[in-house]
Amino acid sequence: MPEGPALIFISEYSDTRGWQRQLAKYLPEIETRIWPDIGRKEDIVAALVWKHPHGVLRQFPELKVIVNLGAGVNFVLADPELPANVPIVRLVDQGLTRRITEYAVLHTLALHRRIPELAEAQRAAKWRYLHPIDPVECGVGVMGLGNLGTSTLEELGHFGFRRAGWSRTPKSLPGVTCFHGAAGLAPFLSDCNILICLLPGTPATEDLIDGKVLRLLPKGAAFINLGRGSNVVDEDLLAALDDGHIRHAVLDVFRTEPLPSEHAYWRHPKVTITPHNSSATNPGTAAQQVAENIRRVLAGESPFNLVNPLVGY
Ligand code: NAP
Repeated sequence: MPEGPALIFISEYSDTRGWQRQLAKYLPEIETRIWPDIGRKEDIVAALVWKHPHGVLRQFPELKVIVNLGAGVNFVLADPELPANVPIVRLVDQGLTRRITEYAVLHTLALHRRIPELAEAQRAAKWRYLHPIDPVECGVGVMGLGNLGTSTLEELGHFGFRRAGWSRTPKSLPGVTCFHGAAGLAPFLSDCNILICLLPGTPATEDLIDGKVLRLLPKGAAFINLGRGSNVVDEDLLAALDDGHIRHAVLDVFRTEPLPSEHAYWRHPKVTITPHNSSATNPGTAAQQVAENIRRVLAGESPFNLVNPLVGY
């Protein structure tokens, strides 16, 4: 293995060969090594990670940046042996944003047009006429007004839904009623016939969507979780589905992934499950910005999409 600056690619899922090809194109001066073939540890200046084995990053004395190969950084920050003072950046990728937005719009429309109820009626060979409702009669709320929440709300604007959003700090988005913080949560939820969660997994968002929060939604509301499984208290969501307060839940993320086969969600008639595949990072669209960010750090400039470990996203 030649000596010289190198990056180490440590990923449980990503398209390793695709990344290697794209990085060779955009960052030819830096060799890409694939974990566990690390070569000389002192050569490693950048680590590209997705669900890396915790503890491994502290062995690189020259590490200048950790690049998370996705938008959510909770797994990186959960590493108890993360090297101190090494900046962590995350991906804000056009391809990933488009896929999440498509998924959110697809399921919002399906829930609005009561597709789950119609599918159930079809299974029973029952002609259940459900009158279509104008989207202006339906409030859609998004928790998390970051890159993904903003894109989702923008796209939903084309259909005429009443739109609201909730974030940690104040935000302003055209055509969207924005709320923030603990005080803004109840008024935000009160008009969400469909609630979409696009929050990160942080200590402050852990168990946030519990029975109390779900019951602040109008009766018969639907719920889509695209954030993190830890945002939701599963038992409380199941109870709200069972008593009809929530009419349907679409879940892409779970506390334990893969979702264990015995979990009640799998067989619940009012739950739609997808295997955390609402979106994915595509090296074809993301490698250029990763290369650019690594170059910035190596040149002593501050990187884009920097994570704040103190707030957890
Ligand atoms: P982002 O740009 O960092 O935005 C996060 C948003 O959440 C911000 O608006 C932030 O508020 C808000 N927020 C954070 N903590 C909060 C709190 N305690 N109370 C209220 N609002 C809070 O993130 P993003 O790129 O949009 O991604 C959001 C999350 O989606 C990721 O962290 C990840 O968990 C999830 N995700 C899932 C998939 C999937 O495949 N299902 C794919 C990608 C990402 P401020 O605006 O005030 O900072």
